[in-house]
Amino acid sequence: MRTLVIDHPLVAHKLTALRDAASDTATFRSLTAELVTLLAYEATREVRVLPVSVSTPVGTASGVKLARPVPLIVPVLRAGIGMLEGMTRLLPMADVGFVGLRRDEESLVASTYADRLPTDLTGRDTFVLDPMLATGGTLATVIAMLVDRGAASVTAICLLAAPEGVQHIEKIFTEDDPARASRVPGVRVVTAALDERLNDRGYIVPGLGDAGDRLFGKI
Ligand code: URA
Repeated sequence: MRTLVIDHPLVAHKLTALRDAASDTATFRSLTAELVTLLAYEATREVRVLPVSVSTPVGTASGVKLARPVPLIVPVLRAGIGMLEGMTRLLPMADVGFVGLRRDEESLVASTYADRLPTDLTGRDTFVLDPMLATGGTLATVIAMLVDRGAASVTAICLLAAPEGVQHIEKIFTEDDPARASRVPGVRVVTAALDERLNDRGYIVPGLGDAGDRLFGKI
């Protein structure tokens, strides 16, 4: 499992504006889309391609095209939906699957309420969209769902991450168990920043607040 914190002035600039409590919903949405596109550029660095050649007006050029099956993008409901536009801008040919998890407030156990994923992900690069990697519980469940269906790689794109969440994912997916490790050739987290910590309500500090509420309003 690898964690990549994107160190780029444009990413830092957009993230700073996104964090600002004074940014309204429209600004927050468009900044999220732009930031995701920048993160996606790095997140897709190892996407599988095939060599092809094309005829240009003056000759033949060697190039590549995305391998089949096409990548699968998995926004985690609800806040991950706000990241979809920025991702499909870069991968317009990708398929999109959806996952929704709900956490029981008393037992804190997460259960799946939406699973619109292909049953067989053999050979597919998958990209999970979840803005806030907080405790890592939700993300770990989604990654395991993709791994168990045979995904060739799983890359989570998160706007922000807390050290607690990264450690949780690392603990589960940096496997001592060689059987599982060989089935998970690539689990990665790509994020714009690794923040200080979680507070006692599970929010990332300094963070940006509730990403779902800032994208879609308090409902
Ligand atoms: N989810 C959010 O939306 N914000 C946080 O800070 C943590 C989890």
